[in-house]
Amino acid sequence: MPIHEKSLIRPENLETHENLVIDGIDVSGDWSTFIRSRVVTDYNEDLQDEIAALPGGEYIHRCWQCGSCTNSCTVNAENPDFNPRYWIYLIRMGMESELVRDKDIIWQCVSCNKCTSACPRDVVPEGVMKATAHWLEMKGYTEKTNSTVFDEIFTGQVVERGKIEDGEVLMEFLKETKQPLMQDWLVQLVKQMVAGFPVFALLKMGMATVFKPKTSDWSKARDAIKSHIEEEKADARKALGLEPAE
Ligand code: SF4
Ligand code: SF4
Repeated sequence: MPIHEKSLIRPENLETHENLVIDGIDVSGDWSTFIRSRVVTDYNEDLQDEIAALPGGEYIHRCWQCGSCTNSCTVNAENPDFNPRYWIYLIRMGMESELVRDKDIIWQCVSCNKCTSACPRDVVPEGVMKATAHWLEMKGYTEKTNSTVFDEIFTGQVVERGKIEDGEVLMEFLKETKQPLMQDWLVQLVKQMVAGFPVFALLKMGMATVFKPKTSDWSKARDAIKSHIEEEKADARKALGLEPAE
């Protein structure tokens, strides 16, 4: 069956015999390439529900496996192993160990949402990719991704102050992810800003980075958002069968 084909033909599932004669016929080398049989026993019957419990994964049950998401995917065009349709299939089948084999590429979704536009069932595959990447982190299969680090810094600033300062978010992100501040693209960006922005706008940005302005009367909204985020996190951990966060 085509849907299973990808996992079956992974190199580790192929076996070739250098010297093999069957019924007097020499089938050594490529002629004797077999696909090793496998039995998947470690199903996670709750896998679809776990992904659906995370933001973005809510509509995964609607998928009918048409493949339009993968056909339209920006990352799949560069790397055929990046396959949203296949991962959605694995999740719906509860094949956790198969899904985890691709843990190092699932996070590479660039959130272009071409899949979301192409999907005839409103599954929002982009959201499912996000939910799956978070699920991998929460279950301890992967380290926190750069995408999550960025989300946390961005969200943290909005929650605390009711506004964001782009430059500060970027600096914190580079620091947190141990990236150098002096990167060619960043130097280029700053040069263009200095050349193209009015002086008062640059001064305002500089002042904002130093004095960190807040939206006035923000404290009630901040507390409400914080408690909502905490509730969502607790619900997600519960859905995944994890202990409450410390
Ligand atoms: S949002 Fe992600 S999964 Fe969807 S098309 Fe873009 S890269 Fe592919
Ligand atoms: S486009 Fe939508 S319905 Fe089709 S395989 Fe992708 S998620 Fe499923």
